[in-house]
Amino acid sequence: MKYVIVSGGVISGIGKGVIASSTGLLFRSLGYRVTSIKIDPYMNIDAGTMSPLEHGEVFVLADGGEADLDLGNYERYLGVTLTREHNLTTGKIYRYVIDKERRGDYLGKTVQIVPHLTNAIQDWLERVAHIPVDGSDIPPDVCIIELGGTVGDIESAPFVEALRQFQFRVGHQNFALIHVSLVPVIHGELKTKPTQAAIRDLRSLGLTPDIIACRCSEQLSEATISKISMFCHVGPEQVLGVHDVNSTYHVPLMLNENRLMDYFAKRLQLSDISLSSDRV
Ligand code: ADP
Repeated sequence: MKYVIVSGGVISGIGKGVIASSTGLLFRSLGYRVTSIKIDPYMNIDAGTMSPLEHGEVFVLADGGEADLDLGNYERYLGVTLTREHNLTTGKIYRYVIDKERRGDYLGKTVQIVPHLTNAIQDWLERVAHIPVDGSDIPPDVCIIELGGTVGDIESAPFVEALRQFQFRVGHQNFALIHVSLVPVIHGELKTKPTQAAIRDLRSLGLTPDIIACRCSEQLSEATISKISMFCHVGPEQVLGVHDVNSTYHVPLMLNENRLMDYFAKRLQLSDISLSSDRV
């Protein structure tokens, strides 16, 4: 199983969901079976009790689960049917750990965020990633995990720590991270400082970006890409511009033109996964 994490810095609502769905679609178009998990770092068990004015409409899954509308994007882009377990919230994972504690599963131990909650998050991700979602009984090859919110927030801290540990649990060639950042245009100039700060925050928490996806109102210049590459300690091929477009259905094409899949083919050793001819 290959895991691709999509996290975000600078501000929320930056386009993580669209980039996560688009990346999944590119894997799918190469013939891989793709699933996805959305992490929402809020205490609600699910989106069913939240105002649609705050987070957009509630998406109702086939099993009746009430989830964030990103789950709807994944289902449409990836051609899959997800379950309520594919939307992990702080509320759900705390309830899971507290139920275990009441049952006596940790008897004699002090139950802590690290390792008990972080282990529970990793177990959840690994288990749910393997659930078949395309109508067959074959587990997926690739799981896209979107971490909602912004890295550095108190809310997302246990999930960030769990993902930091998860990269070692699953191995380097099975774990890649796309960090979505913002490049604002001020007086006609593309500013890279917020991206530099976002990547510093990410690295200080033990995560390394494989791809820095820069949301910008205009196309990134070569000079801006070189600057981000130099200051964020990544190769220029790891800095992708995702500028504003009329339809978000252009985003997969943009990522493809930026040779995202060539990068992942090497980074994730995709040749490990054998594709049967009927899937290509
Ligand atoms: P997040 O997951 O970070 O909260 P979303 O993926 O939900 O962000 O995107 C937030 C909004 O921005 C959505 O309305 C989406 O359609 C829009 N959006 C995302 N990417 C682009 C883009 N490249 N061009 C124009 N609009 C975009």
